[in-house]
Amino acid sequence: MNWNKKILNALCPLFILPVLAISLFLVSCEPSLTLPQEPQDPTLQYEVHIPTMSLDSVFVRVKIDNWPKGDSIRLLAPPIYADNPPLVQTGQNFCHAQVLDSLNNPIPFHSDSFVVGEIKSLVIHAPYTKKAIVEYYVKFNYKADDAYYYMPVPFIGEHTGYLQGSYLFMIPYFFSGTAHIWRDPIPLTVSYALGNEVKIFGDSPNKAEFATTYQLMFSTSALLKQSVVSTQLLFEGTAANQKYRCVNIDVNKTFSQPLLNTVENSFKTLLDDLIPKFGTLSGPPVTIITGINNKIGLEGMYAFNCKDFHENDPNGTTAICLAHEVVHAWVGIRVGDYQDPWWKEGTTSYLGLLLPKKNGLSTLPTVTNTLLDSLAGTGNASTYALSDPVIRSILFSGKDIGHLVYGKGAQVSMLLDRKIRESTKGAVTLISILSEFLKEFDGKSFYRNEYVTYLNTKGLCDVSDIFSTYVDRPGPIPASVLRDNFNALLSSGAFGDTLQ
Ligand SMILES: [Zn+2]
Repeated sequence: MNWNKKILNALCPLFILPVLAISLFLVSCEPSLTLPQEPQDPTLQYEVHIPTMSLDSVFVRVKIDNWPKGDSIRLLAPPIYADNPPLVQTGQNFCHAQVLDSLNNPIPFHSDSFVVGEIKSLVIHAPYTKKAIVEYYVKFNYKADDAYYYMPVPFIGEHTGYLQGSYLFMIPYFFSGTAHIWRDPIPLTVSYALGNEVKIFGDSPNKAEFATTYQLMFSTSALLKQSVVSTQLLFEGTAANQKYRCVNIDVNKTFSQPLLNTVENSFKTLLDDLIPKFGTLSGPPVTIITGINNKIGLEGMYAFNCKDFHENDPNGTTAICLAHEVVHAWVGIRVGDYQDPWWKEGTTSYLGLLLPKKNGLSTLPTVTNTLLDSLAGTGNASTYALSDPVIRSILFSGKDIGHLVYGKGAQVSMLLDRKIRESTKGAVTLISILSEFLKEFDGKSFYRNEYVTYLNTKGLCDVSDIFSTYVDRPGPIPASVLRDNFNALLSSGAFGDTLQ
């Protein structure tokens, strides 16, 4: 409710005067009324300037409004860690920064560093001002080193390019605690000033919207020079009212038409299953970016990466990659967690195995490889509990934490799914509960008790014991427990009709 109306409504019953007199009184008094003002939320608008594909740098302007009164301006500069580590820089990549006030006068600032995970980010400090503009250049001088050899590398080349938010955007540093920094809601918009020949596939070029800085870190886009669009845009279409497209950012890689047909049909099948449950993904067509590497995919807000497609793929690893990364659009990107660093990858790992198998795009041995893995002798996978907060910053450190989070996390999701299905005689599943949960928390993050309460209420059971035994304690889930749960799900048809 508007503050002015609220106070005037409260005042009116006090005056027993002719209508005209009341009007005159209010009109004459209005200038002297001092009405309390609600503080307005801060907003950040980003402009990314990419004039041509021949440059190896981009210019970013951030318009800040309604910075919280009394607080100095604090911004984290790229590259920024947000669960997934950015690559180590080779030379200076963030440069020529300046902070301006609303009259375009430079504001002096200083910087220090902030370490999260294995990444040291710069923090820019400037005196308080309600409105400010920050400008800087970003050069993409990255290379994948041994530790992160599998991570996609941002670049702008002659014909194609690849952008990722964690390398591009400064973000406000309002909060303490890693999860709060990335996941507390703050509305952000990004627009792109592109040269005539530069086309973007991922974020909307006009106004891409993000509800948290975590979403912004996972802004993912391919760039194509206009002259290569016809060869690099591999396919596009609609499934379940969801528009999609696929872009190849490696001009040296080609894929046969039969292979592309297979990949597109797999993706359509997955969308036909997912979209009615989780809802349409807002914004431009959801974009698959391939040509990144041969090993992994990487999730994103409006686009995601899929490893290169292969003719010889009997186990359906491409379908698994597509399922895993598109599920992340809801699980982890649009909805996040504050307390369970395993939830994003563990849940997605389980659904990324179940959905392709259920839809005939994968095989049973591929599923059992993860869901029945004993994790025996895997070192740190047995050392840490899934809920250990340290996991968030060492997930991809090469200490075998991925085995724990993706493997045991998927197994915990399997146990939850089995318990929910059995207590509801198959009427409710983990996916059906998630479909409601994710809509309720869209653009937000949740705490453990909110998730567990949701599972208990909708699943007509108590899943607390699964969390206390297998999430909060280290060590593998006994093989007999895994086998029992898997067989129960298999015989109930959770993995489809074909038992192979
Ligand atoms: Zn993932």
